[in-house]
Amino acid sequence: MPAYLDNAATTRVCPEAARAALEVMTEGFGNPSSGHAAGRAAAARLAEDRAVVAQRLGCAAEELYFTSCGTEGDNWSIHAAMEFNKRRGRHIVVSAIEHSAVLEPVRALAAQGCEVTYLKPDKSGRIRCEDLQAALRPDTALVSLMLVNNELGTLQPVRQAAEAIRRSGCPALLHTDAVQAFLKVPFTPAELGADLLTVSGHKIRAPKGIGVQYVRRGLEPSPLLLGGGQEQGRRPGTEPTAQIAALAAACRAWDDSFPAHLSALKQYALETLAAVPGLEVVSAGDAPHICAVSLPGYPSEMLVRDLSDQGVSVSSGSACHKGKPSHVFAALGLPKRTLMGVLRISFSPENTRADVDALRDGLIQITKTRIAMR
Ligand code: PLP
Repeated sequence: MPAYLDNAATTRVCPEAARAALEVMTEGFGNPSSGHAAGRAAAARLAEDRAVVAQRLGCAAEELYFTSCGTEGDNWSIHAAMEFNKRRGRHIVVSAIEHSAVLEPVRALAAQGCEVTYLKPDKSGRIRCEDLQAALRPDTALVSLMLVNNELGTLQPVRQAAEAIRRSGCPALLHTDAVQAFLKVPFTPAELGADLLTVSGHKIRAPKGIGVQYVRRGLEPSPLLLGGGQEQGRRPGTEPTAQIAALAAACRAWDDSFPAHLSALKQYALETLAAVPGLEVVSAGDAPHICAVSLPGYPSEMLVRDLSDQGVSVSSGSACHKGKPSHVFAALGLPKRTLMGVLRISFSPENTRADVDALRDGLIQITKTRIAMR
């Protein structure tokens, strides 16, 4: 049986989500904007699905906008926050370990004259609250800090960032990329104090091509796209009703017992992988589903390939950084041999201990057949 342990990159769609998508594609396929019965039925279904997702996220249905993916939500949040505060400031505070869906739009704004403070993590992969506090200025317009890092699994101090913003009196809006956090760690946007929060469907067993953007009530974000009046006119485009139905079904099918299962599997992995000669734990992660290890002297890309030949899928870091050492692991200041041998292991509810055993056996096999580099 192949062992798929790269669920932070993407997950298998759960049967409930696949069934919901098929049903909407083939039966309830109307356009929610149409005035006829098929359209009205699609609009009703959309409202129901929105309520399910809002309930899971712990916010009001009107605070949710369906997007195409996490990348869109991150880009939208950053542009909308800077537009909202354009007369108050042009300074951005962002962690150096954000996903490129945050870092790239921030870089583009820097090229247009915005000033950016990049916060480096400590050795354990967490942003320090005092650095955050010190970075805030009277002209800080945006703080973007992810809730769970996608390569380390570490939790970042988002709630503390909201408090620091409030204390400092700066106009900053707070955006958090919760793509790896949704359903895995408990939070609501209001508890975190987030103004803008981004989620992606394909990390929680819904299909690719659907994201959710939370915008705090009262904040009117400028749209990224211009077009029809869908999503309160702020995210035009005919709603992808099949993906939305699948997302709602994946939310419904997410059992409250899943995080504990993920956490137990991760714990088992950290224990059982100690049998691999030379293996180091880079990050045990705070979130239940992500940890990172290294086999110093063995290049990650080779490990990923060799493990894949043995039916085991893991990642050398974010799937968006193929072939390049990850900026996240690099930010930890790891020794070069450790950095070059890093692997991210990430779980989904369908994983079992047998998957972890296959990974352990695969790594042991590699240490027996490949010579480590000095
Ligand atoms: N943010 C984080 C933390 C992620 O892990 C990812 C995907 O890996 C994204 C954003 C981008 O999400 P999407 O693939 O839906 O564009």
